[in-house]
Amino acid sequence: MENYDVVVVGGGPTGLVTAGLLARAGARVLVAERRPHRGDRPKAVVLHAPTLELLDALGLLDDVVARSIPLERFAFRVSGGAEFTAEMTGMDSHLDGYRNLPQPVLEGLLEKYSLEYGAHIERGVGYLSHEVTDSGATVRFDGRDDVRCSYLVGADGPRSAVRESLGVAMTGRSLTTSYLLVEGVPQELVGRDEVGVHVGEHGMVTMMPIPGDQVLVAGPAVAGLALERGAEVPWSTIAEAVETLGFGSRLRLAEAVRTSHYSVDLRVADRLVSGRVALAGDAAHLNTPAGGQGLNLGIGDAVALSWRILAALKNDDPDLLLGYDPERREFAAKVGRTTFLAPLIERIRSVDEHSRPAVQRELDELALCWSQLYPGEENWRADGRYELGVGARVPTRIRADGRLLPFLDPHDRADASTLLWFDGTPPEDLVAIESGAALPPVREVRRAAVPAGDRVTVPEGARGLLVRPDRRVARVLRKPASGRL
Ligand SMILES: Cc1cc2nc3c(=O)[nH]c(=O)nc-3n(C[C@H](O)[C@H](O)[C@H](O)COP(=O)(O)OP(=O)(O)OC[C@H]3O[C@@H](n4cnc5c(N)ncnc54)[C@H](O)[C@@H]3O)c2cc1C
Repeated sequence: MENYDVVVVGGGPTGLVTAGLLARAGARVLVAERRPHRGDRPKAVVLHAPTLELLDALGLLDDVVARSIPLERFAFRVSGGAEFTAEMTGMDSHLDGYRNLPQPVLEGLLEKYSLEYGAHIERGVGYLSHEVTDSGATVRFDGRDDVRCSYLVGADGPRSAVRESLGVAMTGRSLTTSYLLVEGVPQELVGRDEVGVHVGEHGMVTMMPIPGDQVLVAGPAVAGLALERGAEVPWSTIAEAVETLGFGSRLRLAEAVRTSHYSVDLRVADRLVSGRVALAGDAAHLNTPAGGQGLNLGIGDAVALSWRILAALKNDDPDLLLGYDPERREFAAKVGRTTFLAPLIERIRSVDEHSRPAVQRELDELALCWSQLYPGEENWRADGRYELGVGARVPTRIRADGRLLPFLDPHDRADASTLLWFDGTPPEDLVAIESGAALPPVREVRRAAVPAGDRVTVPEGARGLLVRPDRRVARVLRKPASGRL
């Protein structure tokens, strides 16, 4: 029987990033993908800063920039009324703002990357079941022979068969409104640097630019538009309903290339780690497409999971995966909640001079959450600053007085730890500061100035930060009380 270190079920963005990171670090990886060919539906298009940072670290950023559209904000417009923006620029990253890139293009780049590093990707191969053994799992497929592996990753999307085999439930709810998805050529080329959220009296529709001077019209269906699961709805019917929102030519299409609609859930799996099996991406959590969170969350899972799998492989200790579960479940639940926009849209619809500042504050907070640059609720201080304590994501640049100051090196490897050192001579004995098997060894010691950022700060008295491969703080190093750090 063939033997792999890791079998990844699902060759979507989450599975491909997981495979790429593992293969680059030398693990033997098999990706089993049920679809014989990649589809060409744009699906998720939004890439937020952490995803762009990862693509940069993987050397794929030039390709992404060449094929995507840079965007700066989510603009909320009420028909005949108020306008608000959630600004996605001005954050702490060397890649500010966000980009629209159709998912199949991203998957193509990620697949090429994984193959280059030696991952085996097999299409037309469906996962059927697995059986846990002492040292791993035996996986059964439709379309190829059984495989033995040390770790199994279920990145097999919303109806995850891996999750089902584990008997893990998804807690949450299904929304009653369907989501529209229309690709088309707009009548007017407006708002090319934003996702426009158009709010009418009886519905809401989002329009966003995609490459090729096209747009995606998406969002919860407009009242009065019946969308039955699986049924084809012609654009003319959708167009009539969209017209009632009152945005005239701004939402009109010269040509609708494809229309579809799909149902939406807000759910998080009850468990992400079951021994040697982990769930990631849409297999682990589902949310609405608002804010373009799903794909970025999945890629964040892949980054958070892959270094832990490497540590578990190296130390033959599946318990080293355990930290992945609470961290990613909590973050997915938080982000998921912010994609249910109905209450916010109601506040925007009925805004007056008195409530306007509170609504804008809510949008400013939403932008920070949607950027996914500042995970970890406990890292936000009462004074509104984000403190780089344990669990905080460490930025590549820190914004201070209108300048972007370098902080973590954007090209550090995603399978090593880094020591950021602020104060005097860095310690020579790096082993003393590592936290045992759970964390890969420190490969880089970098000097950094203590940041006095507009938003980001370090804990008082910190001499350095031990940074995990997924750029989260593992430890804050302080002045030794008794000689040792
Ligand atoms: C129509 C549509 C529109 C969307 N629009 C947006 C959007 O605008 N913004 C946004 O952020 N998100 C959007 N999403 C969600 C987004 O596409 C997902 O969050 C993202 O694809 C998650 O990536 P993933 O790799 O976790 O899962 P997926 O992309 O679903 O990949 C899972 C892969 O596993 C494969 N697979 C499934 N079962 C098996 C099996 N048994 N064996 C082997 N392989 C299997 C599937 O074929 C698939 O390729 C949309 C989704 C859909 C369906």
